[in-house]
This record gives sequence, C-alpha cells and structure tokens, in this order.
Amino acid sequence: YQAKRDRSGVEVYEATRDGNTPDRLGLLGDLRRALDAGDIELHYQPKVNFDGTVAGLEALVRWVHPERGKVSPDEFIAIAESSGLMPRLTDYVLETALGQVARWRARGLTVPVAVNVSPRDVHSPGFAGSVAARLARHGVPAGALQLEITEHVLLEDPHQAASTLAALTGHGVRMSLDDFGTGYSSLVHLRRLPVSELKIDRSFVARLAVDTEDAEIVRCTVDLAHSLGLRVVAEGVEDDETWERLRDLGCDAVQGWLVSAAMPPAEATSWLLARNGAPPPVEGAPPALPG
Ligand code: C2E
Ligand code: MG
Ligand code: MG
Ligand code: MG
Repeated sequence: YQAKRDRSGVEVYEATRDGNTPDRLGLLGDLRRALDAGDIELHYQPKVNFDGTVAGLEALVRWVHPERGKVSPDEFIAIAESSGLMPRLTDYVLETALGQVARWRARGLTVPVAVNVSPRDVHSPGFAGSVAARLARHGVPAGALQLEITEHVLLEDPHQAASTLAALTGHGVRMSLDDFGTGYSSLVHLRRLPVSELKIDRSFVARLAVDTEDAEIVRCTVDLAHSLGLRVVAEGVEDDETWERLRDLGCDAVQGWLVSAAMPPAEATSWLLARNGAPPPVEGAPPALPG
C-alpha cells in the first residue's frame, strides 16, 4: 500500500489511492491466513493436442473464502501482486503442483504441468534457482514443468527478466507465453522471450467462429508462431465449431470447457487414467469428453 506524509510529517495511510480499499486489505489478510493454513487449492485444466493426446495440465489456483465463497483468481492475484504476497503464493503453487506431478509420475502418469508465474516472480533474482531446487527436491525432471508468463514480464526490468528466463530454460524448464494478443503485445517481445509455446488469448478464440476479424488474427498468430518454431495453444475453447476452425487454422492444441474445466486433483487423476486407457480419437472428431 501507499503511505503519504501529511503536513506534520506523520505518515497517513491513504486507502483509496492505489485501490487498496479496506475491503481489499481484509481480503489480503484472509489470503495470507489461507496460505498459512493450506486452504488454497489447485485445480488442473487439460491442454489437449488435436490428435487427442494430452499435452499437459495447467494448474489454476482456487480459493473458497469462508464467508464470501469462491473468490476469482483475477481478484486475489491482483491483490497478491500489489501487496508483496506474490512470492509466497507462487511458492505455494509450485510446491503443490510439483508434489502432484511427483504423485502422478509415481502412478505412471507422466503428464507435464504448467504453472502461472507473475512478473514479480520473474523479477526476483533467486527465482530460477529456487525452481531448480524445488524440482530436484521433488525428483521431478525440469521437462515436466512449464511456466506460463505474460508479456508484462518485459515492462519493468527486461534485463532481470531475460536473465531469469535464460536460467530457467537453461535448467530445462519450458516457457509458455500466456494471454497472447492482449495488452502490450509486440512482435519484439516474441523475439526476446525464450518461449516454446504461445497461448492465444480467449478473447480472440471466443468469437472465432462468428467474427472474421478474430479469425484472421488467430490465423496470423498461428502462422507467425509456427514460423518462429513455437507451438500454439488456443485458450477458452467452448464448442465444436471453434475446435474445428482452430484445427483448420493449424493450431496445435486447445484448452477450454469443450475438453474440460479445471478439475480438483482427484478428478484430474481419474480424467488422466480414463484418457490413458481410451481408444485413439476418431480422425477429425473433437476430443471425446471423459466419461
Ligand atoms: P489464465 O492463465 O489465462 O487461465 C485461463 C483462465 O481461463 C482460467 O481462469 C480458466 O479457468 C479460464 N478458462 C479455461 N477454459 C475456459 C473456457 O472454455 N471458457 C471460459 N470462459 N474460461 C475458461 P481462472 O482460473 O479464473 O484464472 C484467471 C487467471 O488468474 C489466469 O488466467 C491466470 O492469469 C491467473 N492465475 C490462476 N492461477 C494462478 C496462479 O497459480 N498463479 C498466478 N500468478 N496466476 C494465476
Ligand atoms: Mg495461464
Ligand atoms: Mg491465458
Ligand atoms: Mg488470463
């Protein structure tokens, strides 16, 4: 939060300046306690290739507040970002996700898991080393972890970001560029970021089947990504028609409610097991929903 000196030189707290209303501060305290108590959960949403194979699972935080019920990640991630709690949250998410990856691997389920990291994490000099240490502690190979970043990592301290990302990819962790097409998108970013995957933001995917401009944007993004040697994943795929368009545009994988919403760990395990035993997909058909 922001402190401001009044005329007497005493620091007074200005609640509204940076959006830290008492409500937000209350949530921040509750979030801190929830992290300490282990009350934050991870759910897992599949990324599925067009041949029906599972490309990975994205870990997404879920918080059920004791009085308010579900709080959207968009809301509490913003609070964690602006309050300095982000490193704590990221540690928690990485620890939980890698524990899950290790348990899945012990059962023969070698699916990679993607974790979202914030610009704060990438700007922390110790981050790459702590990720490597955590992987080693869980006995998980670096290739089983993917980190999703956004272009925002380049806004504040591009040099620190570049060095963290180089260290991470040097360890063998794969990077994915999330929410591509929103905010500060620039082709320069694509060249400067050592990513192996690009995720087209849901806002372009949602109306792909009905909006020809969105369809053109997606087509160009897929072609650009491929010419740079990147895999392309479309987010927020909700219906068969969008799935077919994306396949025809040469997109590599999809993520969205058509395949599955994010699932709690036990459900994700059943989904993976059912998927492993499932017959190969019929040519040209959307991925079968888990039974
Ligand atoms: P994201 O990384 O772009 O995640 C995709 C969001 O789209 C998720 O929202 C997911 O539930 C939602 N989604 C997936 N498929 C569909 C679909 O077919 N239709 C629609 N309408 N939505 C779909 P969620 O879980 O609310 O997360 C929102 C954002 O919060 C994430 O966007 C990510 O930026 C952030 N976030 C979530 N978990 C973490 C985390 O562990 N760490 C950090 N730093 N950020 C996180
Ligand atoms: Mg993501
Ligand atoms: Mg995204
Ligand atoms: Mg998003």
